Amino acid sequence: MAPTATKKQIQLSERSVLVWRLVQTAVWLVGAAILTCLLIFPSVGIVLFWDILIPLAPALLVIAPGLWRNVCPLATTNLMPRRLGFSKRKKLTAKQSGIFGLVAVAALYIIVPLRHAVFNTNGPATAMLIIAMAVIGVSLGFFYEWKSAWCSGLCPIHPVEKLYGGNVFLTLPNAQCDKCMHCVAPCPDSTANFGPESTKKTTWNRISALLITGGLPGFIWGWFHVPDAASISSIGSFFAVYQMPMLGLLATLAIYSLIIAIIQTKYERKLTGLFAAAAVSCYYWYRVPALFGFGAWGRDGLLIDLSKTLSSVAITGITVTLTIFFFYRLFLAEKNRKSWLIRPVKLKLNS
Ligand code: SF4
Repeated sequence: MAPTATKKQIQLSERSVLVWRLVQTAVWLVGAAILTCLLIFPSVGIVLFWDILIPLAPALLVIAPGLWRNVCPLATTNLMPRRLGFSKRKKLTAKQSGIFGLVAVAALYIIVPLRHAVFNTNGPATAMLIIAMAVIGVSLGFFYEWKSAWCSGLCPIHPVEKLYGGNVFLTLPNAQCDKCMHCVAPCPDSTANFGPESTKKTTWNRISALLITGGLPGFIWGWFHVPDAASISSIGSFFAVYQMPMLGLLATLAIYSLIIAIIQTKYERKLTGLFAAAAVSCYYWYRVPALFGFGAWGRDGLLIDLSKTLSSVAITGITVTLTIFFFYRLFLAEKNRKSWLIRPVKLKLNS
């Protein structure tokens, strides 16, 4: 049966649903295999998770965040109570939703520096982090409607999706929500050119937008100026991993706050695009060399050592090309009115 579609909504055919369920199951099994490796073969699991999956994620969030949101194994797990009919299907208030968004930003900035202290070198700890997020997400899934509490709420990746996903290439059908239940407004999946500045209902939303847009470029820059600690010998060395990321965060946040205070509101989206491009470009500027043996911290973040076979000029060429691409796409190019996903058919609010 062919999918029935209106301009902004789509009802997937049974065949399409089946195909998406197969893809989601396959990706979920890959996720489970990586989780198992992190616990049983940590050195393999760390490479698969931190040096292959995570480095691909920012580019995917620029190009097709909807693809990730359709197949993310954590999302598939956390939406299970809703899919199986065990959820109370509550709706978050605007205030609760705003608080969840701010907690997600805080969680991102708290967890990521800990990669240097623990997670980058400790497979079981990384597995525990993933399991903890699944436990929180599934627990919330028993109470709240569809993606509102986790995927569009507490997930620490969601603020990054919002920042990077402002001018996507690919819009796909929504393969997670069977019907749109208006669980979150505006829906990040279904709103064209969604970004941190798209939700300003509450002070919580505004603080979240400020922190992620202004702070992320500097946070990423600072993060790459900290080596992975072989062992954390004191509380001081534990908190040392936060110093550079937080300094960077405060520096770009100050610049952003200054600019946003003096420009007209109509330029805010452009500014978001500029800071998004700076953040994702900065990530690959440091991450690509580190993956291939040209990093500043020896074997930190190494995937395969090509330093003896590849010229550093080639690596610079890749990073410069990526930077041009991200600045063009997120800052210079016209917004293309695309959303991450096509909204499923809406349930009428009075039904
Ligand atoms: S499509 Fe509808 S049900 Fe799904 S996350 Fe968006 S608002 Fe919620």
